[in-house]
Amino acid sequence: MPAASIVWLRRDLRLADQPAFHAAASAGPVIPVYVLDDDGAGRRKPGGAARWWLHHSLAALERDLDERGSKLILRRGDAAAALAAVARAAGIAAVHALHHYEPWEIAAEKAVAGALDLTLHDGAYLAPPLTVRTGSDKPYRIFTPFWRALGATMPPADPLPRPHLRAPANWPASDGLDDWHLVPTSPDWASGFAKEWRAGEIAAHDQLDDFLHRVGDYEEDRNLPARDGSSRLSPHLHWGEISPGQVWHALAGNRGKGADTFRSELAWRDFAQNLIAQFPDYGDEPYRPEYARLAWRDPMRDAAAAADLKAWQRGRTGYPIVDAGMRQLWATGWMHNRVRMIAASFLVKHLLIDWRHGERWFWDTLVDADYGNNATNWQWIAGSGVDASLFSRIMAPLVQSAKFAAGDYIRHWVPELAKLPDADIHDPADRPRGYPEPLVDHRAARERALAAYRHARAAS
Ligand SMILES: Cc1cc2nc3c(=O)[nH]c(=O)nc-3n(C[C@H](O)[C@H](O)[C@H](O)COP(=O)(O)OP(=O)(O)OC[C@H]3O[C@@H](n4cnc5c(N)ncnc54)[C@H](O)[C@@H]3O)c2cc1C
Repeated sequence: MPAASIVWLRRDLRLADQPAFHAAASAGPVIPVYVLDDDGAGRRKPGGAARWWLHHSLAALERDLDERGSKLILRRGDAAAALAAVARAAGIAAVHALHHYEPWEIAAEKAVAGALDLTLHDGAYLAPPLTVRTGSDKPYRIFTPFWRALGATMPPADPLPRPHLRAPANWPASDGLDDWHLVPTSPDWASGFAKEWRAGEIAAHDQLDDFLHRVGDYEEDRNLPARDGSSRLSPHLHWGEISPGQVWHALAGNRGKGADTFRSELAWRDFAQNLIAQFPDYGDEPYRPEYARLAWRDPMRDAAAAADLKAWQRGRTGYPIVDAGMRQLWATGWMHNRVRMIAASFLVKHLLIDWRHGERWFWDTLVDADYGNNATNWQWIAGSGVDASLFSRIMAPLVQSAKFAAGDYIRHWVPELAKLPDADIHDPADRPRGYPEPLVDHRAARERALAAYRHARAAS
């Protein structure tokens, strides 16, 4: 029997179109391993909501592997040490994995390559980050030309089938998934998640199939929070339960406006990885230095700023559209994209709180929390990023709420306002009992933000 090899799984929890599985299975028996490393230096461990998803995704993968006479080996600790221990126990050295681009994953890949015979494969993105380049052979920093260049290299390779998995002569020991306590018990703040989501490869394809019936309406509906207009594939894509190549090919040359716009949104995911591959601390540091000097209201030092941050997190700002979004996030681990933009802009510009506080809250509460996507979007909204909206473009939440017909969305997520008619719901003149007054006045907050920005610019 040929020697077995390890498939080191991370955010690529699928069997089909998974080049690491494909390569390992073509060579001989396969030992699939997932290592939970919470404490590695410089590592951001998954937030609470992401851990909930991870638990269910690993459980689904365990079931899929069991059905194919295989197993999922779970280990905890430093990835290089854990994989070396599995390799020793199995008497092998070959490891296959997909390439990932978070700075801590790149560090882990180097450590594993130092200890074992690691082969890295592409497959988590439409094109490997940093390979789509400008005429002067530089990676892109602006989305539109990036997308034009990426689009010209499409379609991606045809998706690979599910591999035929052979079992090794002996299985190494594994942790029990439940013993990792990835899901909350008391209090069970994730009780609403299960009504909303089903994790795993099969569920990801079901979700895609459902969306393919709606993609024709995507162009208009994706901006309306009250409609189910977007694909809701983000957690599936983040955890690699489905590949972007599979999603691309499922659109099967559909040239409608909806499908075209959807492809460009998928490309933002690739673009974000290109940014973190160029700027590894993009989730922690503003790209434009004047933003580090801006006189943010600091929740660590200023009690009023701390109270405002808490009100934003809890969905009690007195701005119905912001509160609806923040409550949707807490209840389901996901928020509609348009509302993510409004809520993020409100924190940074209306409350004048550094985007990094918002980025961290999203990191902890989103089931799709993704280092690249989260950082890229927060820096875009704040105006501090490489490719960013101007700081002076301050979203007016009440105007946005009416423009994108968010009435029913607000009624659903802010029950205190459920009885209000459309004319009142975006900005209730008389606040029903229990619903707060606005934390800030829109005009005054706008002036405060613009003055702080002017000051930071003048000081640079
Ligand atoms: C402040 C802020 C923070 C965000 N944080 C995250 C995050 O942590 N993880 C995350 O996956 N998305 C993030 N997004 C992007 C976007 O909101 C979500 O990807 C989208 O809402 C997911 O819903 P969907 O799958 O229905 O998207 P669809 O509209 O159906 O899009 C399809 C896929 O394209 C990708 N995509 C779409 N929009 C973007 C975008 N703007 N940037 C990057 N990729 C995109 C996602 O993988 C998404 O699943 C953030 C946006 C904002 C404004």
